[in-house]
Amino acid sequence: MTGDDRGDAALPDEAAAHRGDAALLDEAAAHRRELAARRAGDGMRDGFGRRVEYLRISVTDKCNLRCVYCMPAEGLPWLGRSEILTYEEIGDIVSAMAALGLRRVRLTGGEPLVRKDLPRLVELLRAIDGIDDISLSTNAVLLPALAVPLRDAGVNRVNISLDSLRPDRVDALARRPGSHAAIFEGLRAAEDAGFTPIKVNVVIMRGRNDDEIEDFARITMDRPWHVRFIEVMPVGDNLGISADEYVPSFEMLERLRRMGELRPVTGPAGNGPASYFQLDGAAGTVGVITPMSHNYCDRCNRMRLTANGRLRPCLFGDIETDLRTPLRAGEPLEPLIRRTLEIKPERHHLVQGSAIGSGGLRALSQVGG
Ligand code: SAM
Ligand code: SF4
Repeated sequence: MTGDDRGDAALPDEAAAHRGDAALLDEAAAHRRELAARRAGDGMRDGFGRRVEYLRISVTDKCNLRCVYCMPAEGLPWLGRSEILTYEEIGDIVSAMAALGLRRVRLTGGEPLVRKDLPRLVELLRAIDGIDDISLSTNAVLLPALAVPLRDAGVNRVNISLDSLRPDRVDALARRPGSHAAIFEGLRAAEDAGFTPIKVNVVIMRGRNDDEIEDFARITMDRPWHVRFIEVMPVGDNLGISADEYVPSFEMLERLRRMGELRPVTGPAGNGPASYFQLDGAAGTVGVITPMSHNYCDRCNRMRLTANGRLRPCLFGDIETDLRTPLRAGEPLEPLIRRTLEIKPERHHLVQGSAIGSGGLRALSQVGG
């Protein structure tokens, strides 16, 4: 019996018909309409009517790299083990949200692959009624050992962060020697495991890697990669980078246009915020993600779950709901999820080079960037 069937069985139809109780029949019909809407995937709507059906889950705040725009070199004060949601607790939260219309999840972090036994979480999420897409954001370093188990467990798609094609630069940007070789091995492992097409995320910074926009685009001529250039966002310690090295998307696109005709295309599955283009004859696409120059908040379809069980309706700002405490106390989550959805802000209020609007975040890794 499915969850929905159980819902139908609880309908008061029979008793209502017996007593001729019109109000009860109306209630039963409303209940049935609600179930039908959920089955049709109508999903959760926020206070601005946006349909929210996607949850990014940070499975850990820790990371094996220290990308210059993301984390301080010395790392951050990490969460304690008991503060972090267990896989079963993540499953309980996703089940509660799936009953309201959640359809897709992405595992992220920190670096999700540093959390032990991640394929077990994927299997657990895969078994939840209503969840039909599981994706992963990773720096790829640990993919050689994990690509096949993750694929077998049910991950459909991976996004891989790669900020340069040059070994010395990757190592410097990630502040870890050997990162370039490890990431490329991870990329190969992802392709060999059948994760195609692959999305590659590149945070563009002036003077560090902006001269590689064309090189990345050239790769898409032969490889079916979807390379997405991301505008750097101001968070925590990176305000200097955000102020001095920010490259707006129009500049990225201007450089791409000089390479040849850029045709707007739909892009790969995933329904994310990127705008995609294709160079003539290319196997892959190039895209831009423009949180700063053109925020896409009006199309935002997501919420975020932090590693310690806070549900965040927006990546930035300070609105979050503690789901861990009520979950551990055996209290229902649905009213809290609905309330968080209702107060999802209309847009973020980030200002380039400033901490304004970031809600005191130290790094995107803390909230599942
Ligand atoms: N560790 C994984 C990775 O690097 O893909 C997942 C977590 S990481 C926080 C998710 C994405 O956020 C990466 O593509 C990363 O480049 C991006 N990111 C982190 N900090 C950022 C910032 N300040 N501005 C723009 N993108 C950022
Ligand atoms: Fe780690 Fe990803 Fe942040 Fe880089 S961007 S430090 S890989 S969490």
